[in-house]
This record gives sequence, structure tokens and C-alpha cells, in this order.
Amino acid sequence: MRTAIYPGSFDPPTCGHLDIIERASRLCDELIIGVLKNSAKTPLFSTDERVNMLKVITSDLDNVRVMSFEGLTVDFAKQNGANIIVRGLRALTDFDYELQLSQINKNLCEDIETIFLTTNLKYSFLSSSTVKEVASYSADISGLVPPYVQDLVEKKIKERSDS
Ligand code: ADP
Repeated sequence: MRTAIYPGSFDPPTCGHLDIIERASRLCDELIIGVLKNSAKTPLFSTDERVNMLKVITSDLDNVRVMSFEGLTVDFAKQNGANIIVRGLRALTDFDYELQLSQINKNLCEDIETIFLTTNLKYSFLSSSTVKEVASYSADISGLVPPYVQDLVEKKIKERSDS
């Protein structure tokens, strides 16, 4: 049984994330999306909201599960019997950070391999921060995030600007 994890903040999940999830899910028996409870960043969405969005947008993928985690990614992988970490690569700017991360993880756990899927060119410019930035100016984010996520981002941004 080949189990992989795809860790990230997913605040919010974008079409770029979903593209990586669909492609990674075809390479393994089970793909676990790990939503990081990141206390250092102040996210737009709570951990539960991010988990829920990912569950909804991946509901058609039978071998994908969504969980939250805190602490080291390698510990989360080990606890779930996964020996593969999936990460996405967009531009050269991702490379330096992702390389460091994968080397630290390799140092922490020899048995776990990080594999990188390169972005779909359509989404090479796309990040969760871009989506939040564009939405904060009430500009159109359709095509950047799945429709279910679009509604929630727009509601959340409106709530924030009303309060
Ligand atoms: P993190 O805070 O861990 O970087 P993100 O939610 O921003 O979490 O991203 C999770 C993973 O998805 C990272 O490996 C990131 O490079 C990748 N990723 C994000 N956006 C895209 C995209 N548009 N195309 C491909 N990979 C992406």
C-alpha cells in the first residue's frame, strides 16, 4: 500500500492545489491531505474550515482523505504510515525553500521521500495569497478557486470588511 501525504496551509485551497491533488492521487493508493494548524500565521480560514473545503472539493476522489495536523510533517507522515511527501513547485522562487524543506525532512527521517509535481502552467502564478489579495479588492476569483471555495472566500472577505 503506497500512502502519500500532501501537507500545506491551504488558506484557501486553490485550483493549483486541486490540480496537484488530482495528479498525486493517481500516483499512490492513498493520498492524505494534511492541513497545517499553523500558529505562526493568522489564517483567513480556521483549520476546520480549511479541512471542510478540501473534503468538499475532493469528494469525487475515492483515495483522498483530509486531516489536520500540527508539529513536524515527518511525524504526521509516520503516524499515518506514509513514506511519501508530495509538494508542488511553481517558479524558481519555490525551489530554494522546497529544497531546504525536503532536505531537513530527509535528515529527520531517512525513509520518507519528498516528490515534487510541477505546476500546471495554467496555475503557475496562483497562490492562496494571490486569491486573498484579488478577493480583497472585490475582483473576480472564479477560475482561481473551485466554485464552493469562491463563495466562502467572498463571504469571509465581506464579513471582515463589514466588521
Ligand atoms: P505552505 O504554506 O506549506 O507553502 P500552501 O498551501 O501555500 O502551503 O502550498 C502547499 C503546497 O502546494 C506547496 O508545496 C506549494 O508549493 C504547492 N502549491 C501551491 N500553489 C500551487 C500551484 N498553483 N501549483 C502547484 N503547486 C502549488
